[in-house]
Amino acid sequence: MNLVRFWARYAIPSVAALAACGCLALLAANALAVSKDDQRRVQPKASVQTEPVPSAGDAADDPAIWVHPTASERSLILGTDKKGGLNVFDLDGHRAQIVSDGSRPNNVDLIYGFPTGGAAVDLAVAGTRSRSRQGVGFWRIDPVTCRLAEFGPIPAFEVFGGKEPYGSCVYRNPKDGSFYVFITSKDGDVEQYRIEAETAQGAASPIRATRVRAFRVGSTTEGCVVDHELGWLYVAEEKVGIWRYGAGPDSGSSRTLIARVGENDLTADVEGLTIYYGPGTAGYLIASSQGASTFQVYSRDGENAFVMSIDPQAGAGISDVGETDGIDVTNVAMSAKFPRGLFVCQDGKGGRDGHQNFKYFAWDEIAGDRLIVNTDRRARPR
Ligand code: CA
Ligand code: CA
Ligand code: CA
Ligand code: CA
Repeated sequence: MNLVRFWARYAIPSVAALAACGCLALLAANALAVSKDDQRRVQPKASVQTEPVPSAGDAADDPAIWVHPTASERSLILGTDKKGGLNVFDLDGHRAQIVSDGSRPNNVDLIYGFPTGGAAVDLAVAGTRSRSRQGVGFWRIDPVTCRLAEFGPIPAFEVFGGKEPYGSCVYRNPKDGSFYVFITSKDGDVEQYRIEAETAQGAASPIRATRVRAFRVGSTTEGCVVDHELGWLYVAEEKVGIWRYGAGPDSGSSRTLIARVGENDLTADVEGLTIYYGPGTAGYLIASSQGASTFQVYSRDGENAFVMSIDPQAGAGISDVGETDGIDVTNVAMSAKFPRGLFVCQDGKGGRDGHQNFKYFAWDEIAGDRLIVNTDRRARPR
């Protein structure tokens, strides 16, 4: 074999093969990078959007998913209009009711099975900010009619010595059945109230509230949520990150910064927080990363490790969402459109008909095969 033939037969193909291998290695590295990025970001499309809230401008704020006790397809989405009242939507996004128009509710949360003199009742709870009704309001949810009615006067009680509330969330201690409401402020303060059924004759409100704890977070603080089972209160300090405190009234002010603005795409303002309950201690803490128009997912247990980002995109007839304030999620099977759980967010940007609204996502579309999908947990404690 002469040298030319040797090169043609062995050397050139080998070099070509090596080059090809190099390219393949590069391609493989790229593919790995892409797939790693993919694992950290999901881009779901909303299945349903609500009718817009009546007030113009930045008005819709925070949702809460009320799960019906026996017929989950009759569940409701409560959504605040912080310039108007508490809006009530069905699972198709149609508005069923506006209650307490003008009370200016900001954040809404739910209490299942609040013991009163008669039966246990489900209550919606919201901080209200109209000048004449500043404080905390309660609404009874009737499971027969699926309608809300004011539960006593609004507000039932004042907070921060008569000043304006900002965020709010509730806590039910599963060990002793006690109920609490947390209220946050634009000044960065938190108050915790124990709430009980009022038994005194002639009392103005069916709710008796006792302030059991107060502490300072620092700067502007709105979103909060309690992990009822693990006993953690999570508070969003909007420009700083997410703090974890004990939820019990004796937990003091010791705390851990479990997520910092600037890390893992958490972008100020940090807004609404919610919990997805999986089996045992599994599940997620989800935060609205308003500055990035995404939702950051952290694990519920351990050190709240970052899991991934949810970055919604526009779908058929429904816009992308942006600048979200409040969010809520449930693992419960809800309806044909949401058979494996539901995630709801306020949309501060896309809206509908020029006004802000709320958008619903099937949880299994968000979860894919990366997050837990488990419909076993019940919404209400037994
Ligand atoms: Ca807003
Ligand atoms: Ca809420
Ligand atoms: Ca805020
Ligand atoms: Ca998007």
